[in-house]
Amino acid sequence: MSSVLNFNAGPAALPGEVLHRVQTEVVDYQGQGMSLMEMSHRSKIFEAIIARAETNFKRLIGVGDGYRVIFVQGGASTQFATVPMNFLPPGGVADYLVTGTWGEKAIEEATLFGQPHLAASTKESGYRKVPVGSEIALSANPAYVHLTSNETIQGVQYHEFPDLGDAPLVGDMSSDILSRPIDAERFSLIYAGAQKNLGPSGVTVVLIRESWLESANSRVPTMLRYSTHVKNNSLYNTPPMFGIYILDLVLQWLAEQGGVLGIARINEMKAASLYGAIDASAGFYRGHAEPGSRSKMNVTFRLPSEELEKQFLIQAQDAGMIGLAGHRSVGGIRASIYNAVGLEACRTLASFLADFAAKNG
Ligand SMILES: *Cc1c(COP(=O)(O)O)cnc(C)c1O
Repeated sequence: MSSVLNFNAGPAALPGEVLHRVQTEVVDYQGQGMSLMEMSHRSKIFEAIIARAETNFKRLIGVGDGYRVIFVQGGASTQFATVPMNFLPPGGVADYLVTGTWGEKAIEEATLFGQPHLAASTKESGYRKVPVGSEIALSANPAYVHLTSNETIQGVQYHEFPDLGDAPLVGDMSSDILSRPIDAERFSLIYAGAQKNLGPSGVTVVLIRESWLESANSRVPTMLRYSTHVKNNSLYNTPPMFGIYILDLVLQWLAEQGGVLGIARINEMKAASLYGAIDASAGFYRGHAEPGSRSKMNVTFRLPSEELEKQFLIQAQDAGMIGLAGHRSVGGIRASIYNAVGLEACRTLASFLADFAAKNG
């Protein structure tokens, strides 16, 4: 197991069991006399890995037939472009709900291909909340509606998805994928870079409703068409094999934790321990998000001064807790507590918060 308590925002902690398994298999994959990275991506062995990863991902997120899972490269940031490239017809409109930095980037890419409509933005409030009810103004007939389920930098998460009409729904779930039960079949497309909750960087997971592909633009570069990867089971070209291999192991680990229901129970307790420490500090810590929009994956907060924040980070590091600096664009503190971060690590951090406040408050 790692010797630090890792609160990195991404790439982030991976389950110790998975890392140990990789260590034992990396030189000689299951008696093949070579590593997985040296095999053909068209070998039976790798085909089995990719098929199992797709099956397990669909089972864990809770979708049935009619959905496919593909494993591609380019990170979630490439998806910001490929979604409108494939599904925003020339002159068409797509609605975006923007609740933080990643949503801003997503809508910006869409302007290259059509007319994104800013259906909601919580920028005015400093991205402290998700929009509700009348704060959302959908357009008449959008090609799709895009949201970011968890804004990793601000630490703002939908606890429930609002009613967004009948247009195909697209979700960037990079930082809370498979962390809690959701009604995934409300979505036509969900994408996530793997490096927060699913595995190492270098592989991006896309879940897509197969019937939506029929309406996709055809004049899109082959590698950037979703249909290319769906038709070829993610084997049109050489996929990121090592990342998919680890992702497959992480999904098996997650199933052993009781799937999303099991992990969600632990994630609730993890987040409660940290927000509890923030709320118990009599204003010493100020949470960034409003309580109804608090992220259970990225806990963001400020201290009374930047000097105290600096001290906090130094002393936390001395106590073996790393990765707690807020994103460079917002400052403050951010504890990223993805699936692989244990309850004990969160409790240790929560008592550090209480001690630090008692000494410095
Ligand atoms: C990290 C992140 C991204 C960017 O992911 P890359 O794989 O680095 O491109 C996009 N959206 C969200 C919500 C993220 O957390």
